[in-house]
Formats: sequence, C-alpha cells, structure tokens
Amino acid sequence: MNDRLQCASCGSDGTEVIVQFGSYCIRCATCGEGIVATSFLAVSNTDREISAFVDPGHGKQPAPGSLIACGSFRQIAKAIRDVADTGILVRLVAKP
Ligand SMILES: [Zn+2]
Repeated sequence: MNDRLQCASCGSDGTEVIVQFGSYCIRCATCGEGIVATSFLAVSNTDREISAFVDPGHGKQPAPGSLIACGSFRQIAKAIRDVADTGILVRLVAKP
C-alpha cells in the first residue's frame, strides 16, 4: 500500500488517510482533494499498526482527545466502522 501519492489538483504529496462509511480514502492534506478510494474491507484485514481519530479536517493534526482506537487494523476495524458508519470521518494515522 502506497500512501505517498501526488495530488492532481495542487501537486502536493502530503496525504492523509480517512475512512467514511465503507470507503478508505487518501486525501490531500493541502487542498482536501480526494485522491484514491478503495473499500475499507480491502485494507482492514492486516496487522498494520494505526491510530484512529475523529477527523479534524484536512491539514490539521488530530487532537489526542479525539482518539477512537489504536492497534492493528484487524483489532480496531470494528471500532472504526462503528464510527465511520454514522457519517463521521475517521482519520487513520500510521504508527511510527
Ligand atoms: Zn491537493
């Protein structure tokens, strides 16, 4: 999975990952343009370590208090879906 994509609208390569309903989207951190979307199911069955936050909007860092869950995709996929299915955008941040 390659999250380093260049935005077609503004040329920025700063990207953010968000989940909305059942979709997994890469979003430009500079202009907010959606770059790639796939199914959340396609990525949720992995052991990749991530933190999930309520999305504060493009270009902003999520506040620690907005954490939904952290752990492997496999462990927290349901918690992410429970929030994303209500229409709230969920920001995924890969652990360093
Ligand atoms: Zn852009």
